[in-house]
Amino acid sequence: MTENKITSRELALAAIEAMKKSYSPYSNFTVGAALLTKSGKVYTGANIENASYTPTICAERNAIFTAVHNGEREFSAIAIVGGLKGDIKGITAPCGVCRQVMSEFCSPDFKVILVTSSEGEYEETTLGELLPYTFKL
Ligand SMILES: [Zn+2]
Repeated sequence: MTENKITSRELALAAIEAMKKSYSPYSNFTVGAALLTKSGKVYTGANIENASYTPTICAERNAIFTAVHNGEREFSAIAIVGGLKGDIKGITAPCGVCRQVMSEFCSPDFKVILVTSSEGEYEETTLGELLPYTFKL
């Protein structure tokens, strides 16, 4: 499967599916992410919480770290969805930590698809718009 065969809506639907695997007994806020690599693969992730809170990982970083662990370093888009107990009511934007992690591997034109409904509707933005002054060494 090549990159251009996967639409933003398909990536949005993959994020919605990933959200169902969220482990979020403390906040009840479920998040899913679907990351598209430039090689055309999709890696998904969900948020996984912990009783001591700090070890919690976001869906976006879960997907990105899984992809990197599998040898991927170049990404073209990520779809993100969230909602209280899975109820999607508007966008869930990535947190600052996840934006910084995206900036490690992605250029400012990296597409960020913010899912707005359970039908896979979405808004699009870019990493550059979400994090204009990224930290780089
Ligand atoms: Zn995050």
